[in-house]
Amino acid sequence: MPTFDLIVIGAGPGGYVCAIRAAQLGLKVACVEGRDTLGGTCLNVGCIPSKALLHATHSLHEAHQNFAKMGLDAGHVAVNWDRMQAYKAEVIGQNTKGIEFLFKKNKVTWLKGWASIPAPGKVQVGDEVHEARAIVIATGSEPSSLPGVPVDEKVIVTSTGALALPAIPKSMVVIGAGVIGLEMGSVYARLGAQVTVVEYLDAITPGMDAEIAKAFQKILQKQGLKFVLGAAVQGAEATGSGATVRYTLRKDGSAHEIAADVVLVATGRRPYTAGLGLEALGVEMLPRGQIRTDDHFRTSLPGLYAIGDAIVGPMLAHKAEDEGVAVAEIIAGKHGHVNYGVIPGVVYTTPEVASVGATEEQLKEQGRAYKVGKFSFMGNGRAKAVFQGDGMVKMLADKATDRILGCHIIGPGAGDLIHEVCVAMEFGASAEDLARTCHAHPTYSEAVREAALACGDGAIHA
Ligand SMILES: Cc1cc2nc3c(=O)[nH]c(=O)nc-3n(C[C@H](O)[C@H](O)[C@H](O)COP(=O)(O)OP(=O)(O)OC[C@H]3O[C@@H](n4cnc5c(N)ncnc54)[C@H](O)[C@@H]3O)c2cc1C
Repeated sequence: MPTFDLIVIGAGPGGYVCAIRAAQLGLKVACVEGRDTLGGTCLNVGCIPSKALLHATHSLHEAHQNFAKMGLDAGHVAVNWDRMQAYKAEVIGQNTKGIEFLFKKNKVTWLKGWASIPAPGKVQVGDEVHEARAIVIATGSEPSSLPGVPVDEKVIVTSTGALALPAIPKSMVVIGAGVIGLEMGSVYARLGAQVTVVEYLDAITPGMDAEIAKAFQKILQKQGLKFVLGAAVQGAEATGSGATVRYTLRKDGSAHEIAADVVLVATGRRPYTAGLGLEALGVEMLPRGQIRTDDHFRTSLPGLYAIGDAIVGPMLAHKAEDEGVAVAEIIAGKHGHVNYGVIPGVVYTTPEVASVGATEEQLKEQGRAYKVGKFSFMGNGRAKAVFQGDGMVKMLADKATDRILGCHIIGPGAGDLIHEVCVAMEFGASAEDLARTCHAHPTYSEAVREAALACGDGAIHA
């Protein structure tokens, strides 16, 4: 059987990036994937299809809400759901084919099938057993549900089912106000569904800077989403025409029910490691199902590494990709490293929400002296021109040194704007460094500069 320097199991953003980088560094590499297409959750049922639907429905929203204001008479813009689904499939196809092309270009062997590890240094795919000096597990994650909420992917669905509903529902209950729930909830709200989000905590998007989360909730409410916060879901049942969700309010224990055509369970994801044979190998796992790794991505078994959603850390494609590059470099004898302090997070709703570094709550908890610079998009000419003055940039900097500690943006293009702050943080920049950098006018990025200015002598347009 062929022998490889490295076999990567799983071709999601962690695995395929790891395989490509390792091949570029001169290793003989194979990547095993059980799905029919490459790209993992991200390209097939995650980031990419959800962004396609967000783009299509955002365009619909623009047509309905803003075209007439700009003197554009498009008549009645109607939705062809089958065509929208076909567009989504085309976007997925272009992206997954793109990874196939990159594998060929970089001479990465694609082993098709589900892998197991029968012994250290060996990977079985079907009847074939391959040998490798190093193995990287990048098997990702799968949606998790709640007790008493049986997913059938028809009326009680996970994000996978929600991306491919046969018809647009008239009503939807989303369980969980995290990123995936709010993105998919926005898609269906824009398509005309009455969307109610039921969340256990008293705020949406747990972990987000509280001021930004509050502003975000208000904006989503204006867009028609309803929220039931502080609600513990007790169960859900499919009925003839849809499903019913039962919950109790945490503040008074009162019991309630809500019915909808479709219920989306968006309560998180769990690591997927089934079928690999890790238990028989004695590989150490963490209580929440992740593979335990050290800071060089080594598992407890020599020669076996793990990255991405299968290990601890934020379940994000770019976190998995960065770990893929780092572990490839380590296996090739270099010094791979991921700076977990500067991993941005983005919600791709309209407006987008993006953050990096510490939240104000975290700085308070750490007892760190900090200053806050805020700037509203109402003061940004470009944002106002596109009806997106709602939102702000909030920058947090060390009180004594002015070093940037975090930044939280809700507004147009936030998911792209955040990266100038990421670069600044990687270079240990101060808010003044950013404030003194010339920013083109008129751009949304001027709002980031103004927030940096607000950490010092003050913003100009506030
Ligand atoms: C609806 C949705 C939207 C999302 N949006 C975003 C977003 O906008 N931005 C973002 O950063 N993240 C987003 N995510 C999260 C992102 O998709 C994941 O964090 C990312 O895909 C994790 O990458 P990974 O390589 O670790 O695993 P995955 O992408 O899950 O890939 C793992 C691959 O391994 C394969 N595999 C598993 N076991 C085996 C085996 N034994 N043999 C062979 N193959 C195997 C699986 O088939 C899969 O293809 C989203 C997720 C969802 C569900």
